[in-house]
Amino acid sequence: MIEIKPIEELNAQGKKVVIAGPCSAESETQLLETASQLSQMGIKIFRAGIWKPRTRPNTFEGIGELGLKWLKRVKEETGMKCVIEVANPYHVEKALENGIDILWLGARTTASPFAMQDIALSLKGTDIPVLVKNPINPDIELWIGALERLSLAGINRVAAIHRGFSTYGDTTYRNTPIWEIAAELHNRIPELPILCDPSHIGGSRELIQPIAEAALSRNYAGLFVEVHNNPDIALSDSNQQITPATLQTILNNLNINL
Ligand code: PEP
Ligand code: MN
Repeated sequence: MIEIKPIEELNAQGKKVVIAGPCSAESETQLLETASQLSQMGIKIFRAGIWKPRTRPNTFEGIGELGLKWLKRVKEETGMKCVIEVANPYHVEKALENGIDILWLGARTTASPFAMQDIALSLKGTDIPVLVKNPINPDIELWIGALERLSLAGINRVAAIHRGFSTYGDTTYRNTPIWEIAAELHNRIPELPILCDPSHIGGSRELIQPIAEAALSRNYAGLFVEVHNNPDIALSDSNQQITPATLQTILNNLNINL
């Protein structure tokens, strides 16, 4: 039995929660510009990757610790909460040291019991909220196992993120959504909020709205979306990042009021 405690930061009084921000932190200006536009729209939680798990080497692997200083400025200037990905105990230590509010665990990390165990142990004694992405492979037990490891370490303020699953040769989605797996997770842990990440499911800008719509029709708690002030020049996941203005249009079209 996993005990789930509510994450106040996500509690939007019956409203959908929308977490938005760039795939990667690239520069202080990029973060501050993107964050201030999102904050003006009413977004309260800002995502940014500091250390990036890239499929191939010799691509941008994240700005590293310097980005944590930039996120401090985002917090000071906008009052937004910040969420970053952590993939090992060192990342956890640096995130906590720098006042990061929420952590997320990426799909490759959730798929690795050794990594999950190390991270869970490094979180022991803290009460930081953790968002757990589905593992890259469609194995609900791994997803639940990651949540159990956190629970055994006393981390109960958790939520899940459906970001789709790896398949070979699918051309529609970058990571195919398997709504049944998330529905089964909901059946097994009804109190666990589940967010949808349409950016990593779709892999392209045009798919963000239809995927978000599909998630909302299934009553997801909210969205976790990649937003960049200038997506065309983004250093990672350029094709799937949208501007704050496009996000606003999508939220309007979907009747999401922040
Ligand atoms: C991300 O959110 O930028 C990311 C790397 O996600 P995932 O673990 O879903 O690939
Ligand atoms: Mn990304």
